[in-house]
Amino acid sequence: MLTGPFFSELTTMGVGGPAEYFAEVPDVPALRDALSDARSQGRQVLVLGGGSNLVVSDEGFAGLVVRIGIKGCRKDFDGDLVRVDVGAGEDWASFVAQCVSEGLSGLECMSGIPGTAGATPVQNVGAYGQEVAQVAREVTVWDARGGSLNVMQAEECGFGYRTSVFKRQRLEYGPVVTSVTLCLERSVLSQPLRYGELCRYMGVKLGARPPLRETAEAVLELRRTKGMVLDADDPDTKSAGSFFTNPVLSVDQVAELARLAPEAPSFKVTGGTKVPAAWLVEHAGFARGFEMGGAAISSKHTLAITAKPGGRAFDVVRLARAVRAGVASRFGIWLEPEPTLIGLDL
Ligand SMILES: Cc1cc2nc3c(=O)[nH]c(=O)nc-3n(C[C@H](O)[C@H](O)[C@H](O)COP(=O)(O)OP(=O)(O)OC[C@H]3O[C@@H](n4cnc5c(N)ncnc54)[C@H](O)[C@@H]3O)c2cc1C
Repeated sequence: MLTGPFFSELTTMGVGGPAEYFAEVPDVPALRDALSDARSQGRQVLVLGGGSNLVVSDEGFAGLVVRIGIKGCRKDFDGDLVRVDVGAGEDWASFVAQCVSEGLSGLECMSGIPGTAGATPVQNVGAYGQEVAQVAREVTVWDARGGSLNVMQAEECGFGYRTSVFKRQRLEYGPVVTSVTLCLERSVLSQPLRYGELCRYMGVKLGARPPLRETAEAVLELRRTKGMVLDADDPDTKSAGSFFTNPVLSVDQVAELARLAPEAPSFKVTGGTKVPAAWLVEHAGFARGFEMGGAAISSKHTLAITAKPGGRAFDVVRLARAVRAGVASRFGIWLEPEPTLIGLDL
């Protein structure tokens, strides 16, 4: 019988059973002690930030859940550049808002993304044309196996589209991010905008550098229309954000999709052709608001699966499976989940 706090309280999706053991660590020595105790007792460890990209089974997690509460922020200015070290436990959205209000440019398009700073390198968080890999210089990690604090250069982090070395080696004493070092620009202007929808919304051209604050505000406004800013009064935000990543297709898959659905949108990226997962989901018959048991597709965003009141992880997974199978049978494309799933198989 697991007696710790429930993941339904620890995650934004609001589903999931209890943790067996739970520790909140405010600093590196506390993290070190918690991990070394767990290791000596042969316990599994799950590192937790804000729980906004995590879905845990209704049975919960047998092991130690370590919530990272390492705070702090230090800035070193060098001309127009600033090196910012942010503690892994800092709230990302508040940190970005603070940087914007101080005239530090480079994170504005990532305004409003929930969760902690320490989780941003894990899936190389990004939105509206910016991602953490563009500004991350170093990631400091606690290596429980070696018992040391290591500084990893950005090039060692294996950043890719919604992935990194951290995402690929999560459980079982993988490295725990304790702080992230970013390089930002001291400027009242945003970085050049690269996202068509944001440019259209702001009435500027691609590559323009509108005022930093206006850009952050526009991003927040757009995100709210999609239920992508956490809001206790908006049931569409009871999610883990996008449930599926946008698939990157091979040449053969692109040809097959063109045969099945010539109207499907796509764009070239390194390594293939990306197709919006939201388009595939919608055209496989899963419209916004589609419900199945205790889970539903957000009424504002086709890619977000939400838990309805009383919904369980079981319901979330059942709907995700149905969506995945529907897309596979209609388009022959297998969607990959974006959140970390614990004790759950799609
Ligand atoms: C409404 C909503 C909107 C979202 N929008 C976006 C978006 O626009 N772009 C985007 O990229 N994501 C988005 N997300 C997903 C999520 O916010 C990000 O992935 C975020 O970085 C997760 O942070 P967290 O602290 O909540 O991580 P958690 O959910 O607590 O953990 C996620 C994973 O990271 C690991 N982890 C957490 N902290 C650490 C650490 N310090 N060291 C090592 N591993 C760690 C966990 O073990 C787990 O595997 C959204 C989510 C929601 C709910």
